[in-house]
Amino acid sequence: MTMIRCVSPVDGEVYAERPAMPLEMARQAVAHARLAQKAWARRPLDERVKLVLAGVARLNEMVDEVVPELAWQMGRPVRYGGEFKGFNERSNYVASIAADALKPLVVEESDRFERRIAREPHGVVFVIAPWNYPYMTAINTVAPALMAGNTVILKHASQTILVGERMVRAFIEAGVPADVFQNLFLDHDTTAALIAAKSFDFINFTGSVEGGRSIERAAAGTFTGLGLELGGKDPGYVMDADLDAAVDTLMDGATYNSGQCCCGIERIYVHESLYDAFVEKSVAWVSNYKLGNPLDPETTLGPMANKRFAATVRNQVADAISKGAKALIDPKLFPQDDGGAYLAPQVLVDVDHSMEFMREETFGPAVGIMKVKSDAEAIELMNDSRYGLTASLWTKDAERAARIGRELETGTVFMNRADYLDPALCWTGVKETGRGGSLSVLGFHNLTRPKSYHLKKVTA
Ligand code: NAP
Repeated sequence: MTMIRCVSPVDGEVYAERPAMPLEMARQAVAHARLAQKAWARRPLDERVKLVLAGVARLNEMVDEVVPELAWQMGRPVRYGGEFKGFNERSNYVASIAADALKPLVVEESDRFERRIAREPHGVVFVIAPWNYPYMTAINTVAPALMAGNTVILKHASQTILVGERMVRAFIEAGVPADVFQNLFLDHDTTAALIAAKSFDFINFTGSVEGGRSIERAAAGTFTGLGLELGGKDPGYVMDADLDAAVDTLMDGATYNSGQCCCGIERIYVHESLYDAFVEKSVAWVSNYKLGNPLDPETTLGPMANKRFAATVRNQVADAISKGAKALIDPKLFPQDDGGAYLAPQVLVDVDHSMEFMREETFGPAVGIMKVKSDAEAIELMNDSRYGLTASLWTKDAERAARIGRELETGTVFMNRADYLDPALCWTGVKETGRGGSLSVLGFHNLTRPKSYHLKKVTA
């Protein structure tokens, strides 16, 4: 029997394991989801919304278990209290717009005709979730998909193997029928076999570009709708902003969650007039971190989720240094760096785009800072990437930001903020960051399909 394992970054030991579900059992689970879907969709929207929110509330009651469990699985320090803020904000917001987002678009309502476009659930939605924000990334799709009348099968990351199980337990205890929301422990082959057999009506995959490619390949020829939310290499550009605010937000965006955020800031371009001061303040900011065991309430920077992820960061940093980059954080400040999952944060200068560190996703607490002379140079550098999730512009001049924003190849333009998913806006990417979009009204549209009604009320 194949086991799916979470090796904890805290101590390198197996923290949790579950047997991978055999294909035949997985097929049956999907069949149950399909059988349950019509009855679920027939329930009034209001009832579905209430049940989903009850599941969210039930999960909140589990906070004392969720927070240390997250620390053990992926290293998030317990002082941050899990992901409840964003998890609740997103769930409540999508609940508040569900009726509007799903209401039919009425084109004509007259004595002779009724013409409207209704939104129908897809059927069975498959959610494949990553470990980095395991609750928030899953709820982005799970909540609106269920509210819209789909049933949901969740396959969570091996690193956060307990998250899907816990979410489903909370929802079922709150009254969501068992076949309506299921968590399956699936290995890659079984996942691909299910997708290739057209088991699902829509798939939302959040994860790496390579993972997204595998899912797209598995789905080839099945015509299954796909939402792909993939990696990023998000830039910040500091022009004429309040320096302290820019440093605070951009450094937090670069390093929070040990830099393991899809929209984390990975490269920063600073106008030459502010460059020296920005670098100096950034180094001071990052030096304040306390790296250590995430179960210790004093720890502000936990280990990376896996020593394999830390090795990627170490390799990219070493490669950049070998090509001329300069590391500004003194390793002596972080004696807890063990060469494995516990990794000191780093700020690199004298970087350029010939370095992998400035082109490929680092996904760790390390950021490169480059001096620029003009908006045109900054725009060219920001767009010089195969990714496009967010870009964070720092200026007091909203017109200037709007002008630059129009030129950027990105899913979201931020001005004077970063690293935040606004549930009222569509979370989406361009280039290899993926396609589709979640949250907002458009997220509901992506989890449903249009159905047109053209009803002639008179026979003559
Ligand atoms: P990952 O390795 O691609 O895994 C994501 C999920 O897909 C996991 O559940 C994983 O299962 C599964 N998976 C990966 N390859 C698969 C395959 N060939 N067949 C079936 N399932 C497969 O990504 P990750 O390391 O968990 O997450 C980090 C990445 O996600 C980063 O690139 C980050 O930027 C991206 N991300 C993007 C967003 C966004 O909104 N755009 C949000 C969060 C994260 P296993 O764990 O069992 O392999």
